[in-house]
Amino acid sequence: MALGPTLGDGAVAETNQRDGADPSAKSWSGEWNRVLGHLKEEVGEAAYRSWLQPTSLSRCDDGHAIVAAPTRFLRDWVATHYADRLLALWRAENRTVTRVSVVVAVLPKRNGIDTTSGSAEGLEGRHPSDIPLLEPSFGADIAEDKVQVSALDQRFTFENFIVGKPNELAHAAARRVAEACANPVHMVPFNPLFLYGGVGLGKTHLMHAVAWHVRRNACDRKVIYLSAEKFMYQFIRALRFKSTMDFKEQFRSVDLLMIDDVQFISGKDSTQEEFFHTFNALVDQNRQIVISADKSPSDLEGLEERMRSRLGWGLVADLHPTTYELRLGILESKVEQSGITIPRKVMEFLAHKITSNVRELEGALNRIIADMQLIGREVTLEGAQELLRDLLRYCERRVTIDEIQRRVAEHFNIRLSEMTSERRARAVARPRQVAMYLAKQLTTRSLPEIGKKFGGRDHTTVMHAVRKIEELTLTDAALAEDVELLRRMLQS
Ligand code: ADP
Ligand code: MG
Repeated sequence: MALGPTLGDGAVAETNQRDGADPSAKSWSGEWNRVLGHLKEEVGEAAYRSWLQPTSLSRCDDGHAIVAAPTRFLRDWVATHYADRLLALWRAENRTVTRVSVVVAVLPKRNGIDTTSGSAEGLEGRHPSDIPLLEPSFGADIAEDKVQVSALDQRFTFENFIVGKPNELAHAAARRVAEACANPVHMVPFNPLFLYGGVGLGKTHLMHAVAWHVRRNACDRKVIYLSAEKFMYQFIRALRFKSTMDFKEQFRSVDLLMIDDVQFISGKDSTQEEFFHTFNALVDQNRQIVISADKSPSDLEGLEERMRSRLGWGLVADLHPTTYELRLGILESKVEQSGITIPRKVMEFLAHKITSNVRELEGALNRIIADMQLIGREVTLEGAQELLRDLLRYCERRVTIDEIQRRVAEHFNIRLSEMTSERRARAVARPRQVAMYLAKQLTTRSLPEIGKKFGGRDHTTVMHAVRKIEELTLTDAALAEDVELLRRMLQS
């Protein structure tokens, strides 16, 4: 098999480096606290409280840190979302840490850590630090020959991907690539497939889905999926150990190479150079490449011109910000999968309020599910509002209509006074609509309140503006990018 493990028990992020001083001499808990502190800054208060605060450091032996989570659900979540970062941050503190595992610490009554694992039997009542480590069935890194590829998330399949207007092109293109690649007569439909879009909109999901599809239908194909950071890290290592020839060979013998988040490659000259050569060699041999980034090739900064144009040669497909319908569809599907019933009102509330990206949306839903499972409470709209209070506050982080107007005016190079003026010329009316749309999305203000702030306009005018921009972002890529950029700027 070409690619990695699936989500299971001891979630492990691992590197192969073992160097430095005796770990026992270190103060583990101090390090753990610092690591958590850094991660908190990265992920924000709300996510930290939901997922990381409930964990604790169980022990650390021989460079292997074991983090305890109170439920399987939390363990899986922390493992899939944070294992990589935990390890990286920890290694920044202390090079002797080579592995981070996440285990369940509060043991379920019947069968130890995991009913699917025989080795966990008879562990009830034992202190987490006494639990023998289960061998990982989930890993952040696994070796594919000499190349370290990134693990695939079991849930990221085409079946689990909800298609809507904002992502239909990217989805169709990814499917095309997957089917072509799994076909015995391997045709390359477009090379590369370049997927781009804001964070949490499904780029990684689609890439994993392509890998799963090929793996299931043509297991002889060699597929490599890895993050651009990992690509860079390995290239630099190869340089250091003078094994760049091997490194190149590894990459050049693949049928399908997928590199995620290439915005992280930009600016690093030698890696870019290597990437460029690998890329060309693969394209020349008619091997499929899939790339993702947060911006289109033309907007990626710090990229050499020849690289930029090469990346744009194939099909460039973008994932637009989600619409209300898509968000609701995703929630419905996830609720159905979880086998739990959640009132429709609650789902509608979430789809309305959590507009930033699908990851946040899922986070909110998972929190509700976790709360239900842990506390056995029934889900109500009020309960959900209360539970997600900090998350919602975080999503609506102090963005004011004044600020939105100012930023939008700056962005489109119009006077601030045009936000409240009567002028209907497209050049000012469109930015004004964008500002109204953002005001609706990013603040808790009602339509009449927004109207008032825009020169005393009627609430129906605001509603019209919101709809108009929603529609336009589906067909007008440039506008969609403007809106997304403004949204990110305002929320950061
Ligand atoms: P990106 O790589 O663009 O930052 P991801 O692919 O990691 O985003 O997606 C973030 C989360 O949202 C993942 O858990 C993914 O499964 C989910 N997700 C995104 N888009 C969809 C979709 N259309 N249908 C179902 N789940 C989705
Ligand atoms: Mg991603």
